[in-house]
Amino acid sequence: MSTAPPAVEASALTKTYPGKVTALDGLSLTVRPGTVFGLLGPNGAGKSTTVKILTTLARPDSGSATVAGHDVLRHPDRVRRAIGVVAQRSGADPVATGRENLLLQGRLYGLRGARLTARVQELLDRFALADAAARPVKTYSGGMQRRLDVALGLVHRPEVLFLDEPTTGLDPEARTAMWEEIGRLAGDEGLTIVLTTHYLEEADRLAERIAIVDRGRVVTTGTPDGLKAELRGDTVQVELYEAPGEVDARLLATALGEFAGIREVTLDGRRLSARADDGGVAVPAVLAVLQREGARAASVTVARPSLDDVYLRHAGRRFADADSVPALAGGAR
Ligand code: ADP
Repeated sequence: MSTAPPAVEASALTKTYPGKVTALDGLSLTVRPGTVFGLLGPNGAGKSTTVKILTTLARPDSGSATVAGHDVLRHPDRVRRAIGVVAQRSGADPVATGRENLLLQGRLYGLRGARLTARVQELLDRFALADAAARPVKTYSGGMQRRLDVALGLVHRPEVLFLDEPTTGLDPEARTAMWEEIGRLAGDEGLTIVLTTHYLEEADRLAERIAIVDRGRVVTTGTPDGLKAELRGDTVQVELYEAPGEVDARLLATALGEFAGIREVTLDGRRLSARADDGGVAVPAVLAVLQREGARAASVTVARPSLDDVYLRHAGRRFADADSVPALAGGAR
């Protein structure tokens, strides 16, 4: 394992916005240099706030962080020189051409003359924008604009690149192309990438390590495969006919938990989930218990563990159901 100092280290970050919205509630993470790290969480989990603090655009209420070895609070200028940031909203000037945008960005970082023009051409080629380089950015497709945004973030050869929701709003084709692009960037010597995403598939595919963020803290961290491997066996999911409240959730969970080989039973709305050593064996037992307790199954599925299951296990609810549930300061958890 590498002993190099971390590319990013955040320790116990907290941040509360006006209205007592706790965006961060003691978030800590460590990113090893030269890796792709995914911050995965539903909308409102605190990912953007984390990125804002790490990129010196916001200050935490408490806690500390270093990026590329520099303290974000004590040396924000050094941090800014060492990072590239691709925000959710494009920073490109829509009226200027792609090439003009890149030239301007390079000048902001002190590049001049032949070095600047060579770097800009290199990026235009690399991101397949050379043919469109003389066109105003407002004529670009969503995928092209996103590629330009990434190129802009790389002009000054940063050590750490932050990508905030890099494929949100892209159609499936452009998303796949962007994934390939990020995969190639990850091979660049020494570049560390921190990406935030609320797509499970994106984190699974791109990140060597992920931190699952929920309500302003990291609930678990590891490699996607490692996290999935923590979950032994299959996931059994049953969609109930009965509305929440029509069945006694606790009774159902207790009855199911009595079966050997069935564990971690949760009922979330109409959706009953359990882990089973062998899904095929568990299904008849689950259905029998449901019938006994007066509940009916609308559908049953058995699947191998996914990151969604990892999230459910650590956050206690399904990923898709978790969007926009902010933590309230001092509120019950
Ligand atoms: P994510 O990026 O994971 O969607 P954010 O960091 O944007 O999460 O938001 C975390 C929480 O903080 C959310 O509840 C959000 O509504 C709230 N929040 C974010 N920015 C602000 C702000 N400028 N003012 C007030 N609340 C904010």
